[in-house]
Amino acid sequence: MNKWTQKLSSRRLVISGAVLLGMYLILILAVTNVGQTRLKESQQRELGLKVQSYANVLELFFAVTTDHINNLSTGKSIQTFYANLASGMSMEYGLGASLSKVDRELLQVIETRKVHNKPVFERILLVNYNGSIISEMGNGHITNVNTAAYNDIQDTNILIDTTSESDGVHIKLVKPVQYSGKTVGYIIAQVNKNVIIEQMTIQEYEESYSRMDLTTESGSIFIWDTISNHKNSGDLGRNIYFEVPIENTPFKLKSWFEPLAEKDVFTSRWFTIGLSLLAIPVIGGLLYIFTINNINLVLRTKVQQSQRQQKMLSIKNKRLIEEVEKRKQSEQQLAYQASHDALTGLANRKFGNDLLERELDNAAKNKTNVLIIFIDLDNFKQINDTLGHLVGDMVLVESSQRILDLIAPSATLSRFGGDEFLLIIPGLKDANDGGKIASNILALFQQSFVSKNQEFFISTSIGMAMYPQDGVTAQQLLANADTAMYKVKEEGRNAFNFYNSDMNIDVQRALKLDSRLRQAIANEVLELYYQPIVNLKTKKIIGAEALMRWEDDVYGFIPPDEFIPIAEKNGLIHQLGEFALNSACYQAAKWQEIMPLQISVNFSSVQFRYYDRVLVLIESALQSSGLSADKLDIEITESLLFDHSDGVITLLNKLQNMGAQLTIDDFGTGYSALSYLQKFPFDRLKIDRAFLINMREDEGNRELVNAIIAMAKALNLEIVAEGIEDRWHDEYLKGIDCDFGQGYYYSRPLPAKEFEQLLQKESISAWF
Ligand code: C2E
Ligand code: CA
Ligand code: CA
Repeated sequence: MNKWTQKLSSRRLVISGAVLLGMYLILILAVTNVGQTRLKESQQRELGLKVQSYANVLELFFAVTTDHINNLSTGKSIQTFYANLASGMSMEYGLGASLSKVDRELLQVIETRKVHNKPVFERILLVNYNGSIISEMGNGHITNVNTAAYNDIQDTNILIDTTSESDGVHIKLVKPVQYSGKTVGYIIAQVNKNVIIEQMTIQEYEESYSRMDLTTESGSIFIWDTISNHKNSGDLGRNIYFEVPIENTPFKLKSWFEPLAEKDVFTSRWFTIGLSLLAIPVIGGLLYIFTINNINLVLRTKVQQSQRQQKMLSIKNKRLIEEVEKRKQSEQQLAYQASHDALTGLANRKFGNDLLERELDNAAKNKTNVLIIFIDLDNFKQINDTLGHLVGDMVLVESSQRILDLIAPSATLSRFGGDEFLLIIPGLKDANDGGKIASNILALFQQSFVSKNQEFFISTSIGMAMYPQDGVTAQQLLANADTAMYKVKEEGRNAFNFYNSDMNIDVQRALKLDSRLRQAIANEVLELYYQPIVNLKTKKIIGAEALMRWEDDVYGFIPPDEFIPIAEKNGLIHQLGEFALNSACYQAAKWQEIMPLQISVNFSSVQFRYYDRVLVLIESALQSSGLSADKLDIEITESLLFDHSDGVITLLNKLQNMGAQLTIDDFGTGYSALSYLQKFPFDRLKIDRAFLINMREDEGNRELVNAIIAMAKALNLEIVAEGIEDRWHDEYLKGIDCDFGQGYYYSRPLPAKEFEQLLQKESISAWF
């Protein structure tokens, strides 16, 4: 994972966690706050109503008290008193009595007008218009009465007057007394403050934490205060405050209440605080995760950094190693130059000797053999002299290259002298192989050298010696191989020779045959035989296979199975092939007059290595013989397909387009694969003779032949069965739908003349 996405995802996680938590807290706070505000609002409303009801109580109280005083002023005793006074009645006569009545009346009001058993009025006075007191009742202490202040009072109204005295504010109700339409005096009633206070307090309770004052023009009357006693109340300012006027009086009721939040909302505030406190570890946890993550990130980055550094280091190390390697290489190069030939790159004479000694040591230890081969270029001096040293150098380089391409990795080639090479082959399994190798080397030089458009040939003379039989020291072996080589030179060059003749007779024969074959070609001893290919159903000859025959003067009849492989190795196959093709085409063209048969010519895969050459060869054979291409059948073995190349496919396609027929020979013996058959453009398939040998007894072989035929049919190929030796073969193969047959049952391969006689007859069946 990329570090940025890591960082992003962890950061996003933490941030979204924090945001969610924050939103959660805000929601809780908002809800709590709204709840609190609502609560406060309702408290406010409730308190407002409460204060209003107090005010109403007081309004009523004053309404009732003024009523009392009104009634008193218009009452009988006071009116009678003023009537008597107006009539000039003396105190002794009747005025005194009426005054006592007034006194009694006033006292009665004080004594009867009570609230909760407390007198509403503390003191009631009847004052004359000029201010002299007529009657005074109660315990109050109103002494001086300034009646002038009351003159403005409307006759019917009552003045609620307040005065500030030494013991506080006093409330007085002042009512003008009317007699005969005139104000004759005033009733002044002092209201008992305690009654007012009590009327309020009775409804209030201690826990309400409130304060109430009744304000007048002369000051406030303190009603109660439970706030000041309460621990939480400091100043009144933070409390809920109401100021309600008392209707029809000059008073106002002021009240303070401790807010609800302080007490009742208390819990929710703590709840919020608690929640917030709880959020702290959660946020802390998130931050911790975040930092841990960041630490991880830092760690990871550090690990990455150190990995990068390690990478850098390893790159540096690599460079160092490369540097060391280079030095080693240059040292090795120096050592190499000292031990190798500059021109060919091969080991030089000295190093070649060392190598030989080393191999001999190994062979002594492991009880194996070592073959040493001296290869000397024939007439090299002549080339050097006529074509120049550069060409000579080129020949040496190319010769060494050709040999190197041929030999196994375990073998070593060194340049021993001017035109002398030493090939050391350790651990040779089969003594025959020595001859094969030598023959192959000779074959390498059948190919021409080309310099400046000049083509020339160089042959070689090869001498061989074998450890331990031909010598145990390097010196002995080299000397013996040299002797063998010189013998070849003596015998006419371009050949090989073993130091002694104690070797296997087969090797000798092969060696001899190699030489004999060259002479046979030169002397035109080789001949072609023809074996008919017949239609299994009609028994008519449809073609003939050309098979090579060699009768040697010394060795007698040599089967093609023996000399063809030799020719393939020494390169003579090209000459043999060319001969076979030309002869066969010539004969077939001639035979067309007798019968339109097809001629099958065998091609070695070695021939096919040179596609262009093969094509030119075939074209010219057809042209010079006049045989039409569709009368030529080219037989190729599976081994060609095995190391197939695009060049082979192209060539086969060209041949088919030319009209020639292509047959896969010896099918089933090698690496046949269905894919080959699909890939290559064959027309015909030849079942190998090996399948027919035990066919009668071997059910497995029969099954195999059945399968091959079924497959060939599926691929639209014609089928030829090879090696039909008896009637049973003939019948069986005919029975399983095989098209053609070839074998001793019909005819052995015959010389051209004899084959021609066979052709004259209608069909093969006529023979039987
Ligand atoms: P091949 O191409 O499979 O040729 C068929 C071989 O089977 C021939 O052997 C033929 O004589 C033999 N034959 C035919 N009918 C019978 C039979 O009924 N019984 C037995 N036992 N053998 C039968 P041959 O002529 O000895 O040739 C051997 C091989 O040599 C050929 O096998 C072919 O691969 C090769 N060869 C022959 N002539 C040439 C040639 O001109 N060029 C090349 N490149 N190879 C050739
Ligand atoms: Ca053949
Ligand atoms: Ca064959």
